[in-house]
Parts: sequence; C-alpha cells; structure tokens
Amino acid sequence: MNKKSIFNIAGFIMLLVLAACGGSESASTSATGALDTGKVYKWKMVTTWPANFPIFQEGAQKFADDVRVMSNGRLDVQVFAGGELVPALQVFDAVSQGSVEMGHGSPYYWAGKVPEAQFFSSVPFGMTARGMNAWLYGGGGLKLWREIYRPFNLIPFPMGNTGIQMGGWFNKKIESVADIEGLRMRIPGLGGKVFKRAGGNPVLMSGGEIYTALERGTIDATEWVGPFHDLRLGLNRAAKYYYYPGWHEPGTEFELMVNLTAWNELPPDLQKIIEVTARAVSEWIYGEMEFHNSEALQQLQQQKNVEVLEFPADVLAALKITAAETLQEEAAANAKFKRVYEAYQAFSQGYGDWSRMSEQSYQAFR
Ligand code: CA
Repeated sequence: MNKKSIFNIAGFIMLLVLAACGGSESASTSATGALDTGKVYKWKMVTTWPANFPIFQEGAQKFADDVRVMSNGRLDVQVFAGGELVPALQVFDAVSQGSVEMGHGSPYYWAGKVPEAQFFSSVPFGMTARGMNAWLYGGGGLKLWREIYRPFNLIPFPMGNTGIQMGGWFNKKIESVADIEGLRMRIPGLGGKVFKRAGGNPVLMSGGEIYTALERGTIDATEWVGPFHDLRLGLNRAAKYYYYPGWHEPGTEFELMVNLTAWNELPPDLQKIIEVTARAVSEWIYGEMEFHNSEALQQLQQQKNVEVLEFPADVLAALKITAAETLQEEAAANAKFKRVYEAYQAFSQGYGDWSRMSEQSYQAFR
C-alpha cells in the first residue's frame, strides 16, 4: 500500500471517529489516535526456542508475520531465536527490562525467579490444554497471571500449548514404583521434584544434550515433548520403550510477554491486533501439535517399531499422591505460590467433574 492510501485510510478513520464521538474532548483524543496510526513501531521479539524449532519458533514467527500484515506494516516485529540476541533463559529479564519489547517462551522457565508462574505453564497432574484454556480465559487465570507479572513490568498473553506430552523414553520397563528407584532421568521442573520424591534421580540437561546422554547411558530415561519432536530428535534410536501419558506436563502453555511500557505506548488498534493474533497463534500451535503428534506416533509404531506402553495405573496413582505432596510443600514455603496454587486448585476441581462427564466419558467409548 502506498503512502497516499495510508494517508487516506488514516483520514477516513479519523472522520469515522469524529462522526461517532462528536464532542470536542473526544475529538482531540481521537485526533491524537489518528496521528498515531501513521507511526511505525519496530519491535524485537526474543524466544526461548532454538532457531527453526518446528511449531514453537514457527509460531513466534507466524505471530510477527500476521501482525505485520494486519497492521499494514505499522507494527514490525523482528523475531530472534534463543541465543541469537539474548540467551534463552534470559528472555524474561530482557523483556522485563525493556531491552526488547517481546518474548515467547513458557512460564516455568522462570521458576527460579517467579515460582508461582509454573501454574501458567503446566504442573504435574494438572490441567490439560482444554482446562488451561477454560481457566485462563474464563476462570480468572489470565487476570491473576497479569497481576503476577505486573511488578516485572510485563503483560502476558497465552500463546500456544503443547497438548499432553509423552511420559518419556526408557531403557527398562516401568512395572512398579520400585522401578523408579535410583532411575536417572532427564525431567525438569516440578515434574523432576515429584520424580525425586518418588525415589528417582532427576537430571537437568538441555535438549541438545539428551540424545547422546541417553545413547551412552549417562541417563536411563528422558522426557522431551511428544511423538513429533521426539522423533525429530531421534530418541527412538536411543531407547526401547516409549511411555505415556506425560503426567508431569499434561498441557504446557506458552506465553507471549510484552514489556508493559512499550505496550502502553501502542495505539489501541495495535494492542488489539497483538491480543487477537496471540490467541489465533495459540490455536495454531495447539492444532499443529495435535496433528503432527498423531502422525508421528503412527510412524513410530508402524515404521520404527517402538514399543509404546502405558504407565501402570498404580505407578500413576502413586505419582499423583507424590505430586500433591510436592505442590503442598512448595505452597507451605511460599505465600505467592500458595495463592496461585489455591486459585488453580479451586478451578481445576470444579472443572474436573465437567471434564470427566463430558470429554473423558465420551472418549472412553470412541
Ligand atoms: Ca517436556
């Protein structure tokens, strides 16, 4: 679109606003708004994902591309993968301090700084993507999340969900809780704490190190994401058994975080474009995950001859009790954590009944 037509659109919008408002006070406000519509905002987004990481980094790039089209180039976001501009685990600080305007990641990466943020990602035996959606948008979860991020000068938007992850890759079968004893498994965050409490030996390790560690026997087991990303990492060549479900990450939510000062400087139409695009990309990421995971699972079973096994019910039941103890212990030690934990629990208990009578009951007979 050329400059003349941009000018015409700006003039047209101004006329519309003037016609709608009438009064001189609103007219001067809208005149300022109309002037703002000509300004181009050049922003940067940093992510926690490796460059070209399928679906996750792609989603961040899609957000930037869609926003550029919808804003007619007025909001131009340049996207950087983890490590390109700032290290992956410094995304929160970089956006908080305003050295960049936006970030994409998952709130549990900031557990060291904001432990209660983990509830906005995923917690062991917590809610799935459906439940998270209901809690965040309908049940007050997003409002609480924004309140938690406010002191860091950040405003978060949900932007993606992995869906239920897989339980992980093991080189020995898990037939009882006793088989977890001493098991060296790459499993981060709260899931790792639960695993440790259940007798396991959680190991911290980045995605790039997992394959070699498992293949060489430095670790006995690992979790990663789901069939699609696990197959790409070649984990089927390093372990015999692939277990489900991912009790430790039942629906990991991603976030778009925006520096609040930068956000407040945007005209309302660009703010709305960000909000609506984040929600659309959220849906895109979740849909892509479900589609690619189902395809990759078939490939793993039919072409790669992977033995896909369900964790025994008594192992899951024991881990669930251990998970509740772990969360209660964290809550007892941290008032902020406790507050979000209680809000999360209150919603998820009520939602649980509905979920059992709708989705679960129906799925059991499909
Ligand atoms: Ca994972």
